Amino acid sequence: MNNTNTSSPVDETVIGPILESAVRVDAGRIKAIIEKALLMKGLDLTEVAALSSISDPELLGELFAAARRVKDEIYGKRLVIFAPLYISNLCANECLYCAFRARNTGLKRRALSQAEIAEETRLIINQGHKRVLLVAGESYPREGFSYVLKAIETVYGVKEGAGEIRRVNVNVAPLTLDEFKQLKATNIGTYQVFQETYHRATYKNVHVSGKKADYDWRVTAPDRAMQAGINDVGIGVLFGLCDWRFEILALMQHIRHLEAHFGVGPHTVSVPRLEPASGSDTACHPPKPVSDVDFRKIVAILRLAVPYTGIIMSTRENANLRRETFALGVSQISAGSRTNPGGYGDGEQEDESQFSLGDHRSLDEVVRDVAELGYIPSFCTGCYRLGRTGADFMDLAKPGEIKYHCDPNALSTFQEYLLDYGSPATRTVGTKLIADTLAAMNPLQRSISTTLLDQVNTGKHDVFC
Ligand code: SAM
Ligand code: SF4
Repeated sequence: MNNTNTSSPVDETVIGPILESAVRVDAGRIKAIIEKALLMKGLDLTEVAALSSISDPELLGELFAAARRVKDEIYGKRLVIFAPLYISNLCANECLYCAFRARNTGLKRRALSQAEIAEETRLIINQGHKRVLLVAGESYPREGFSYVLKAIETVYGVKEGAGEIRRVNVNVAPLTLDEFKQLKATNIGTYQVFQETYHRATYKNVHVSGKKADYDWRVTAPDRAMQAGINDVGIGVLFGLCDWRFEILALMQHIRHLEAHFGVGPHTVSVPRLEPASGSDTACHPPKPVSDVDFRKIVAILRLAVPYTGIIMSTRENANLRRETFALGVSQISAGSRTNPGGYGDGEQEDESQFSLGDHRSLDEVVRDVAELGYIPSFCTGCYRLGRTGADFMDLAKPGEIKYHCDPNALSTFQEYLLDYGSPATRTVGTKLIADTLAAMNPLQRSISTTLLDQVNTGKHDVFC
Protein backbone atom coordinates (compact mmCIF):
# COMPACT_ATOMS: atom_id res chain seq x y z
CA MET A 1 0.00 0.00 0.00
CA ASN A 2 1.55 3.23 -1.07
CA ASN A 3 1.94 6.23 1.31
CA THR A 4 0.20 4.51 4.18
CA ASN A 5 0.86 4.73 7.85
CA THR A 6 0.01 1.12 8.60
CA SER A 7 0.08 1.29 12.41
CA SER A 8 -3.62 1.07 13.13
CA PRO A 9 -4.98 3.93 15.25
CA VAL A 10 -7.43 1.56 16.91
CA ASP A 11 -6.66 -1.40 19.18
CA GLU A 12 -9.89 -3.38 19.57
CA THR A 13 -8.44 -5.77 22.14
CA VAL A 14 -8.36 -3.18 24.91
CA ILE A 15 -11.91 -1.96 24.35
CA GLY A 16 -13.82 -5.08 25.51
CA PRO A 17 -12.17 -5.25 28.97
CA ILE A 18 -12.64 -1.49 29.52
CA LEU A 19 -16.35 -1.75 28.70
CA GLU A 20 -16.74 -4.77 30.98
CA SER A 21 -15.23 -3.03 34.01
CA ALA A 22 -17.27 0.13 33.27
CA VAL A 23 -20.47 -1.75 34.15
CA ARG A 24 -19.26 -2.04 37.76
CA VAL A 25 -18.51 1.68 38.22
CA ASP A 26 -20.54 3.19 41.10
CA ALA A 27 -22.46 6.46 41.22
CA GLY A 28 -19.75 8.21 43.24
CA ARG A 29 -17.15 7.55 40.57
CA ILE A 30 -19.53 8.71 37.81
CA LYS A 31 -20.13 11.97 39.68
CA ALA A 32 -16.35 12.43 40.05
CA ILE A 33 -15.87 11.92 36.30
CA ILE A 34 -18.58 14.48 35.54
CA GLU A 35 -16.86 16.93 37.92
CA LYS A 36 -13.56 16.35 36.14
CA ALA A 37 -15.22 16.88 32.75
CA LEU A 38 -16.29 20.35 33.88
CA LEU A 39 -12.59 21.32 33.96
CA MET A 40 -12.81 21.01 30.15
CA LYS A 41 -9.58 19.10 29.74
CA GLY A 42 -11.22 16.04 28.21
CA LEU A 43 -11.60 12.47 29.43
CA ASP A 44 -9.71 9.20 29.01
CA LEU A 45 -11.05 5.91 27.67
CA THR A 46 -12.06 4.40 31.02
CA GLU A 47 -13.91 7.59 31.94
CA VAL A 48 -15.75 7.65 28.61
CA ALA A 49 -16.68 3.98 29.11
CA ALA A 50 -18.00 4.74 32.61
CA LEU A 51 -20.21 7.55 31.30
CA SER A 52 -21.53 5.31 28.53
CA SER A 53 -22.78 2.85 31.17
CA ILE A 54 -25.07 5.42 32.88
CA SER A 55 -28.72 4.40 32.99
CA ASP A 56 -29.86 6.00 36.27
CA PRO A 57 -32.08 9.00 35.32
CA GLU A 58 -30.52 11.26 37.97
CA LEU A 59 -26.97 10.60 36.74
CA LEU A 60 -28.13 10.98 33.16
CA GLY A 61 -29.53 14.39 34.11
CA GLU A 62 -26.15 15.33 35.59
CA LEU A 63 -24.35 14.16 32.46
CA PHE A 64 -26.61 16.28 30.25
CA ALA A 65 -26.30 19.30 32.54
CA ALA A 66 -22.49 19.07 32.43
CA ALA A 67 -22.51 18.78 28.63
CA ARG A 68 -24.72 21.88 28.43
CA ARG A 69 -22.31 23.83 30.63
CA VAL A 70 -19.24 22.86 28.61
CA LYS A 71 -21.00 23.58 25.32
CA ASP A 72 -22.08 26.98 26.61
CA GLU A 73 -18.68 27.85 28.02
CA ILE A 74 -16.72 27.02 24.86
CA TYR A 75 -19.15 27.63 22.01
CA GLY A 76 -21.58 30.09 23.57
CA LYS A 77 -24.78 30.24 21.56
CA ARG A 78 -23.30 29.85 18.09
CA LEU A 79 -24.35 27.19 15.60
CA VAL A 80 -22.45 27.06 12.33
CA ILE A 81 -24.65 26.24 9.32
CA PHE A 82 -23.79 24.48 6.03
CA ALA A 83 -25.40 22.62 3.12
CA PRO A 84 -24.27 19.34 1.57
CA LEU A 85 -23.69 19.42 -2.20
CA TYR A 86 -23.97 15.95 -3.75
CA ILE A 87 -22.19 16.03 -7.10
CA SER A 88 -22.44 12.35 -8.05
CA ASN A 89 -24.06 9.10 -6.92
CA LEU A 90 -21.80 6.85 -9.04
CA CYS A 91 -20.11 4.28 -6.81
CA ALA A 92 -18.01 1.15 -7.26
CA ASN A 93 -18.33 0.01 -3.63
CA GLU A 94 -20.88 -2.30 -2.11
CA CYS A 95 -21.63 -0.74 1.29
CA LEU A 96 -24.78 -2.58 2.29
CA TYR A 97 -26.29 0.39 4.12
CA CYS A 98 -26.07 2.95 1.29
CA ALA A 99 -28.43 3.56 -1.64
CA PHE A 100 -25.45 4.50 -3.82
CA ARG A 101 -23.94 0.98 -3.50
CA ALA A 102 -22.77 -0.45 -6.82
CA ARG A 103 -25.32 -3.28 -7.08
CA ASN A 104 -28.36 -1.14 -6.34
CA THR A 105 -29.93 -1.33 -9.79
CA GLY A 106 -32.99 0.60 -8.58
CA LEU A 107 -30.95 3.83 -8.25
CA LYS A 108 -30.87 6.34 -11.10
CA ARG A 109 -27.18 7.17 -11.57
CA ARG A 110 -26.15 10.74 -12.11
CA ALA A 111 -22.88 12.68 -12.08
CA LEU A 112 -23.44 16.41 -12.41
CA SER A 113 -21.60 18.27 -15.16
CA GLN A 114 -19.55 21.30 -14.09
CA ALA A 115 -22.34 23.52 -15.44
CA GLU A 116 -24.87 21.63 -13.31
CA ILE A 117 -22.59 21.93 -10.26
CA ALA A 118 -22.43 25.69 -10.85
CA GLU A 119 -26.25 25.80 -11.09
CA GLU A 120 -26.70 23.84 -7.84
CA THR A 121 -24.18 26.18 -6.19
CA ARG A 122 -26.21 29.21 -7.30
CA LEU A 123 -29.34 27.70 -5.76
CA ILE A 124 -27.50 27.00 -2.49
CA ILE A 125 -26.11 30.55 -2.43
CA ASN A 126 -29.61 31.92 -3.05
CA GLN A 127 -30.82 30.13 0.05
CA GLY A 128 -28.19 32.15 1.96
CA HIS A 129 -25.50 29.53 2.55
CA LYS A 130 -21.78 30.35 2.68
CA ARG A 131 -20.39 26.86 3.37
CA VAL A 132 -20.93 23.62 1.50
CA LEU A 133 -19.90 20.05 2.12
CA LEU A 134 -19.15 18.52 -1.27
CA VAL A 135 -20.10 14.81 -1.35
CA ALA A 136 -19.59 12.06 -3.95
CA GLY A 137 -19.71 8.28 -4.29
CA GLU A 138 -16.42 6.48 -4.97
CA SER A 139 -16.36 6.36 -8.76
CA TYR A 140 -15.77 9.39 -10.88
CA PRO A 141 -16.68 10.20 -14.48
CA ARG A 142 -14.08 9.77 -17.25
CA GLU A 143 -11.59 12.34 -15.95
CA GLY A 144 -11.21 10.45 -12.65
CA PHE A 145 -10.37 12.24 -9.41
CA SER A 146 -9.76 15.54 -11.20
CA TYR A 147 -13.58 15.66 -11.52
CA VAL A 148 -13.70 16.41 -7.78
CA LEU A 149 -10.89 18.98 -8.02
CA LYS A 150 -12.69 20.77 -10.87
CA ALA A 151 -15.96 20.66 -8.94
CA ILE A 152 -14.35 22.49 -6.01
CA GLU A 153 -12.96 25.12 -8.38
CA THR A 154 -16.41 25.46 -9.95
CA VAL A 155 -18.10 26.00 -6.57
CA TYR A 156 -15.58 28.65 -5.50
CA GLY A 157 -15.93 30.34 -8.90
CA VAL A 158 -19.68 31.04 -8.64
CA LYS A 159 -20.70 34.60 -7.74
CA GLU A 160 -24.42 35.07 -7.37
CA GLY A 161 -25.79 38.49 -6.42
CA ALA A 162 -24.03 39.52 -3.23
CA GLY A 163 -23.24 35.93 -2.29
CA GLU A 164 -20.67 33.23 -2.83
CA ILE A 165 -19.50 30.02 -1.16
CA ARG A 166 -16.59 30.91 1.12
CA ARG A 167 -15.66 27.47 2.42
CA VAL A 168 -15.88 24.12 0.65
CA ASN A 169 -15.53 21.09 2.91
CA VAL A 170 -15.22 17.72 1.23
CA ASN A 171 -16.51 14.22 2.02
CA VAL A 172 -15.05 11.83 -0.54
CA ALA A 173 -13.43 8.41 -0.34
CA PRO A 174 -9.88 8.04 1.04
CA LEU A 175 -7.13 9.34 -1.25
CA THR A 176 -3.44 8.73 -1.75
CA LEU A 177 -0.99 11.19 -0.22
CA ASP A 178 -0.45 12.75 -3.63
CA GLU A 179 -4.19 13.15 -4.23
CA PHE A 180 -4.58 14.70 -0.78
CA LYS A 181 -1.91 17.24 -1.75
CA GLN A 182 -3.92 18.08 -4.87
CA LEU A 183 -7.04 18.42 -2.73
CA LYS A 184 -5.23 20.73 -0.31
CA ALA A 185 -4.14 22.91 -3.24
CA THR A 186 -7.81 23.62 -4.10
CA ASN A 187 -8.14 25.45 -0.80
CA ILE A 188 -10.68 23.20 0.87
CA GLY A 189 -11.72 23.71 4.47
CA THR A 190 -12.21 20.34 6.15
CA TYR A 191 -11.64 16.89 4.66
CA GLN A 192 -14.16 14.45 6.17
CA VAL A 193 -14.09 10.68 6.19
CA PHE A 194 -16.17 8.46 8.48
CA GLN A 195 -14.85 5.05 9.43
CA GLU A 196 -18.52 3.93 9.60
CA THR A 197 -17.62 1.19 12.10
CA TYR A 198 -14.30 0.68 13.87
CA HIS A 199 -15.22 -2.97 14.53
CA ARG A 200 -13.27 -4.99 11.95
CA ALA A 201 -15.63 -7.97 11.76
CA THR A 202 -18.69 -5.72 11.35
CA TYR A 203 -16.79 -3.58 8.85
CA LYS A 204 -16.06 -6.68 6.78
CA ASN A 205 -19.72 -7.78 6.85
CA VAL A 206 -21.13 -4.52 5.57
CA HIS A 207 -18.42 -3.58 3.04
CA VAL A 208 -18.76 -6.44 0.64
CA SER A 209 -16.66 -5.35 -2.32
CA GLY A 210 -14.79 -2.43 -3.84
CA LYS A 211 -11.93 -0.35 -2.47
CA LYS A 212 -13.87 0.53 0.66
CA ALA A 213 -13.68 -3.09 1.82
CA ASP A 214 -10.08 -2.29 2.90
CA TYR A 215 -10.48 -1.19 6.57
CA ASP A 216 -6.86 -0.10 6.93
CA TRP A 217 -6.86 2.09 3.84
CA ARG A 218 -9.84 3.95 5.27
CA VAL A 219 -8.76 4.21 8.90
CA THR A 220 -5.40 5.69 7.86
CA ALA A 221 -6.97 8.28 5.52
CA PRO A 222 -6.96 11.06 8.16
CA ASP A 223 -3.23 10.41 8.68
CA ARG A 224 -2.52 10.84 4.97
CA ALA A 225 -4.71 13.96 4.82
CA MET A 226 -2.77 15.52 7.69
CA GLN A 227 0.56 14.45 6.20
CA ALA A 228 -0.52 16.26 3.04
CA GLY A 229 -1.00 19.45 5.06
CA ILE A 230 -4.80 19.39 5.43
CA ASN A 231 -5.02 20.68 8.99
CA ASP A 232 -8.77 20.36 9.46
CA VAL A 233 -9.88 16.75 9.24
CA GLY A 234 -13.31 15.43 10.24
CA ILE A 235 -13.97 11.87 11.36
CA GLY A 236 -17.09 9.99 12.45
CA VAL A 237 -19.03 6.81 13.02
CA LEU A 238 -22.17 5.62 11.26
CA PHE A 239 -24.18 4.67 14.33
CA GLY A 240 -26.41 1.61 14.07
CA LEU A 241 -23.91 -0.84 12.58
CA CYS A 242 -22.23 -1.98 15.81
CA ASP A 243 -22.55 -1.39 19.59
CA TRP A 244 -22.27 2.39 20.06
CA ARG A 245 -20.26 1.98 23.28
CA PHE A 246 -17.55 0.13 21.37
CA GLU A 247 -17.61 2.76 18.64
CA ILE A 248 -17.11 5.78 20.89
CA LEU A 249 -14.14 4.16 22.62
CA ALA A 250 -12.59 3.33 19.25
CA LEU A 251 -13.33 6.86 18.09
CA MET A 252 -11.52 8.16 21.19
CA GLN A 253 -8.52 6.00 20.33
CA HIS A 254 -8.53 7.42 16.83
CA ILE A 255 -8.68 10.97 18.19
CA ARG A 256 -5.80 10.36 20.61
CA HIS A 257 -3.79 8.78 17.78
CA LEU A 258 -4.19 11.92 15.64
CA GLU A 259 -3.31 14.15 18.60
CA ALA A 260 -0.20 12.08 19.35
CA HIS A 261 1.03 12.02 15.76
CA PHE A 262 0.06 15.44 14.47
CA GLY A 263 -0.25 17.57 17.61
CA VAL A 264 -3.91 18.19 16.88
CA GLY A 265 -7.02 16.03 16.84
CA PRO A 266 -9.87 16.12 14.35
CA HIS A 267 -11.48 19.48 13.68
CA THR A 268 -14.91 17.86 13.78
CA VAL A 269 -16.62 14.64 14.74
CA SER A 270 -19.82 13.58 12.94
CA VAL A 271 -22.45 11.34 14.46
CA PRO A 272 -24.61 10.10 11.57
CA ARG A 273 -27.21 7.48 12.48
CA LEU A 274 -28.31 4.93 9.91
CA GLU A 275 -31.35 6.19 8.03
CA PRO A 276 -33.57 4.20 5.68
CA ALA A 277 -32.06 4.10 2.18
CA SER A 278 -33.71 2.80 -0.98
CA GLY A 279 -32.58 -0.71 -1.91
CA SER A 280 -30.90 -1.32 1.46
CA ASP A 281 -32.19 -3.79 4.07
CA THR A 282 -29.31 -2.91 6.40
CA ALA A 283 -30.27 0.76 6.41
CA CYS A 284 -33.95 -0.02 6.96
CA HIS A 285 -33.19 -2.53 9.77
CA PRO A 286 -29.99 -1.37 11.51
CA PRO A 287 -28.11 -4.29 13.10
CA LYS A 288 -27.51 -2.33 16.34
CA PRO A 289 -30.07 0.47 16.44
CA VAL A 290 -29.24 3.44 18.65
CA SER A 291 -32.20 4.79 20.66
CA ASP A 292 -32.88 8.52 20.91
CA VAL A 293 -31.75 8.55 24.56
CA ASP A 294 -28.49 6.81 23.70
CA PHE A 295 -28.00 9.16 20.79
CA ARG A 296 -28.27 12.16 23.13
CA LYS A 297 -25.84 10.39 25.46
CA ILE A 298 -23.34 9.98 22.62
CA VAL A 299 -23.41 13.72 21.88
CA ALA A 300 -23.10 14.66 25.57
CA ILE A 301 -20.23 12.23 26.22
CA LEU A 302 -18.30 13.43 23.16
CA ARG A 303 -18.79 17.05 24.24
CA LEU A 304 -17.19 16.24 27.59
CA ALA A 305 -14.49 13.92 26.22
CA VAL A 306 -13.23 16.26 23.48
CA PRO A 307 -14.49 19.70 24.49
CA TYR A 308 -12.74 21.64 21.70
CA THR A 309 -13.72 19.43 18.78
CA GLY A 310 -16.73 20.51 16.70
CA ILE A 311 -19.70 18.12 16.63
CA ILE A 312 -21.78 18.00 13.46
CA MET A 313 -25.49 17.14 13.31
CA SER A 314 -26.99 16.57 9.87
CA THR A 315 -30.57 16.61 8.59
CA ARG A 316 -30.67 12.81 8.94
CA GLU A 317 -32.27 13.57 12.32
CA ASN A 318 -35.68 15.16 12.80
CA ALA A 319 -36.15 18.74 13.99
CA ASN A 320 -36.95 17.83 17.61
CA LEU A 321 -33.94 15.65 18.20
CA ARG A 322 -31.71 18.17 16.48
CA ARG A 323 -32.98 20.89 18.82
CA GLU A 324 -32.16 18.79 21.89
CA THR A 325 -28.64 18.01 20.74
CA PHE A 326 -27.80 21.70 20.15
CA ALA A 327 -27.84 22.17 23.91
CA LEU A 328 -25.81 19.02 24.56
CA GLY A 329 -22.84 19.86 22.42
CA VAL A 330 -23.53 20.15 18.70
CA SER A 331 -21.68 23.08 17.11
CA GLN A 332 -22.45 22.67 13.38
CA ILE A 333 -25.63 21.73 11.53
CA SER A 334 -26.70 21.27 7.94
CA ALA A 335 -29.95 22.84 6.79
CA GLY A 336 -32.19 22.87 3.72
CA SER A 337 -30.33 19.74 2.53
CA ARG A 338 -30.74 17.40 -0.45
CA THR A 339 -28.87 14.08 -0.78
CA ASN A 340 -29.51 13.52 -4.49
CA PRO A 341 -27.21 15.05 -7.12
CA GLY A 342 -29.15 17.93 -8.66
CA GLY A 343 -31.51 17.97 -5.68
CA TYR A 344 -31.53 21.74 -5.15
CA GLY A 345 -32.90 22.22 -8.66
CA ASP A 346 -35.03 19.07 -9.01
CA GLY A 347 -36.21 18.65 -5.41
CA GLU A 348 -35.85 15.44 -3.39
CA GLN A 349 -35.93 12.38 -5.69
CA GLU A 350 -36.06 9.14 -3.75
CA ASP A 351 -34.66 7.06 -6.61
CA GLU A 352 -31.52 9.25 -6.74
CA SER A 353 -31.01 10.01 -3.02
CA GLN A 354 -28.53 8.51 -0.59
CA PHE A 355 -30.89 8.20 2.37
CA SER A 356 -34.13 9.67 3.72
CA LEU A 357 -33.97 13.03 5.43
CA GLY A 358 -35.39 13.55 8.92
CA ASP A 359 -35.56 17.34 8.64
CA HIS A 360 -37.14 18.70 5.44
CA ARG A 361 -37.35 22.36 6.46
CA SER A 362 -35.89 25.17 4.37
CA LEU A 363 -32.78 27.05 5.50
CA ASP A 364 -34.93 30.06 6.44
CA GLU A 365 -37.20 27.91 8.63
CA VAL A 366 -34.20 26.31 10.37
CA VAL A 367 -32.53 29.69 10.89
CA ARG A 368 -35.71 31.11 12.43
CA ASP A 369 -36.19 28.07 14.66
CA VAL A 370 -32.57 28.13 15.82
CA ALA A 371 -32.80 31.86 16.55
CA GLU A 372 -36.08 31.42 18.46
CA LEU A 373 -34.27 28.92 20.66
CA GLY A 374 -31.66 31.60 21.40
CA TYR A 375 -28.85 30.19 19.21
CA ILE A 376 -27.01 32.44 16.77
CA PRO A 377 -26.94 30.91 13.29
CA SER A 378 -23.38 31.53 12.08
CA PHE A 379 -22.26 31.57 8.46
CA CYS A 380 -18.73 32.50 9.48
CA THR A 381 -15.75 31.24 7.51
CA GLY A 382 -13.25 33.61 9.12
CA CYS A 383 -10.92 31.24 10.96
CA TYR A 384 -9.96 29.17 8.01
CA ARG A 385 -9.54 32.16 5.73
CA LEU A 386 -7.26 33.83 8.29
CA GLY A 387 -5.24 30.62 8.58
CA ARG A 388 -6.62 29.73 12.01
CA THR A 389 -6.75 25.99 11.31
CA GLY A 390 -5.48 22.82 12.95
CA ALA A 391 -3.35 23.41 16.05
CA ASP A 392 -3.60 27.22 15.69
CA PHE A 393 -7.39 26.99 15.94
CA MET A 394 -7.23 24.67 18.94
CA ASP A 395 -4.73 26.95 20.75
CA LEU A 396 -7.04 29.86 20.24
CA ALA A 397 -10.12 27.87 21.21
CA LYS A 398 -8.71 26.43 24.40
CA PRO A 399 -8.39 29.54 26.54
CA GLY A 400 -11.86 30.65 25.40
CA GLU A 401 -10.19 33.36 23.24
CA ILE A 402 -12.19 32.30 20.25
CA LYS A 403 -15.20 34.09 21.70
CA TYR A 404 -13.68 37.42 20.70
CA HIS A 405 -13.62 36.26 17.09
CA CYS A 406 -16.45 33.78 16.76
CA ASP A 407 -19.23 35.67 18.51
CA PRO A 408 -18.71 38.93 16.57
CA ASN A 409 -18.27 36.99 13.31
CA ALA A 410 -21.40 34.94 14.00
CA LEU A 411 -23.41 38.12 14.55
CA SER A 412 -22.09 39.89 11.44
CA THR A 413 -22.67 36.88 9.15
CA PHE A 414 -26.11 36.32 10.67
CA GLN A 415 -26.97 39.97 10.01
CA GLU A 416 -25.69 39.60 6.43
CA TYR A 417 -28.01 36.58 6.03
CA LEU A 418 -30.99 38.49 7.47
CA LEU A 419 -30.50 41.47 5.17
CA ASP A 420 -29.83 39.48 1.99
CA TYR A 421 -32.00 36.37 2.35
CA GLY A 422 -34.09 36.41 5.54
CA SER A 423 -37.90 36.32 5.34
CA PRO A 424 -39.68 39.13 7.24
CA ALA A 425 -40.56 36.70 10.08
CA THR A 426 -36.95 35.52 10.39
CA ARG A 427 -35.65 39.10 10.30
CA THR A 428 -37.89 40.05 13.21
CA VAL A 429 -36.70 37.13 15.33
CA GLY A 430 -33.07 37.60 14.27
CA THR A 431 -32.93 41.34 14.88
CA LYS A 432 -34.17 40.85 18.43
CA LEU A 433 -31.66 38.05 19.04
CA ILE A 434 -28.77 40.21 17.81
CA ALA A 435 -29.85 43.07 20.08
CA ASP A 436 -30.19 40.75 23.09
CA THR A 437 -26.82 39.15 22.38
CA LEU A 438 -25.08 42.53 22.13
CA ALA A 439 -26.65 43.62 25.41
CA ALA A 440 -25.32 40.53 27.20
CA MET A 441 -21.73 40.90 25.87
CA ASN A 442 -18.79 42.35 27.75
CA PRO A 443 -17.72 45.83 26.54
CA LEU A 444 -14.80 44.60 24.39
CA GLN A 445 -16.84 41.93 22.63
CA ARG A 446 -19.69 44.38 22.12
CA SER A 447 -17.43 46.99 20.62
CA ILE A 448 -15.83 44.50 18.19
CA SER A 449 -19.28 43.20 17.23
CA THR A 450 -20.80 46.64 16.78
CA THR A 451 -17.99 47.66 14.44
CA LEU A 452 -18.61 44.62 12.23
CA LEU A 453 -22.41 44.99 12.34
CA ASP A 454 -22.15 48.68 11.36
CA GLN A 455 -20.14 47.66 8.29
CA VAL A 456 -22.75 45.05 7.30
CA ASN A 457 -25.57 47.52 7.84
CA THR A 458 -23.94 49.97 5.42
CA GLY A 459 -23.87 47.30 2.70
CA LYS A 460 -20.46 45.70 3.21
CA HIS A 461 -20.22 41.94 2.80
CA ASP A 462 -17.85 39.31 4.13
CA VAL A 463 -16.53 41.23 7.13
CA PHE A 464 -14.84 39.26 9.86
CA CYS A 465 -12.11 39.51 12.46
N1 SAM B 1 -18.51 7.72 -0.78
C1 SAM B 1 -17.69 8.30 0.20
C2 SAM B 1 -17.51 7.42 1.39
O1 SAM B 1 -18.24 6.46 1.53
O2 SAM B 1 -16.62 7.74 2.15
C3 SAM B 1 -18.16 9.64 0.69
C4 SAM B 1 -19.58 10.01 0.64
S1 SAM B 1 -20.73 8.96 1.51
C5 SAM B 1 -22.03 9.39 0.46
C6 SAM B 1 -20.95 9.89 3.02
C7 SAM B 1 -21.41 9.16 4.23
O3 SAM B 1 -22.79 8.86 4.14
C8 SAM B 1 -20.80 7.82 4.50
O4 SAM B 1 -19.50 7.97 5.05
C9 SAM B 1 -21.79 7.21 5.48
O5 SAM B 1 -21.41 7.43 6.82
C10 SAM B 1 -23.08 7.99 5.22
N2 SAM B 1 -24.20 7.10 4.88
C11 SAM B 1 -24.23 6.13 3.95
N3 SAM B 1 -25.42 5.49 3.98
C12 SAM B 1 -26.15 6.06 4.97
C13 SAM B 1 -27.46 5.82 5.51
N4 SAM B 1 -28.25 4.87 5.04
N5 SAM B 1 -27.87 6.58 6.54
C14 SAM B 1 -27.09 7.55 7.04
N6 SAM B 1 -25.87 7.83 6.57
C15 SAM B 1 -25.39 7.08 5.55
FE1 SF4 C 1 -20.41 4.46 -2.13
FE2 SF4 C 1 -19.85 5.99 0.01
FE3 SF4 C 1 -22.32 4.96 -0.34
FE4 SF4 C 1 -20.30 3.36 0.26
S1 SF4 C 1 -21.12 5.01 1.57
S2 SF4 C 1 -21.84 2.99 -1.32
S3 SF4 C 1 -18.60 4.32 -0.80
S4 SF4 C 1 -21.30 6.46 -1.63
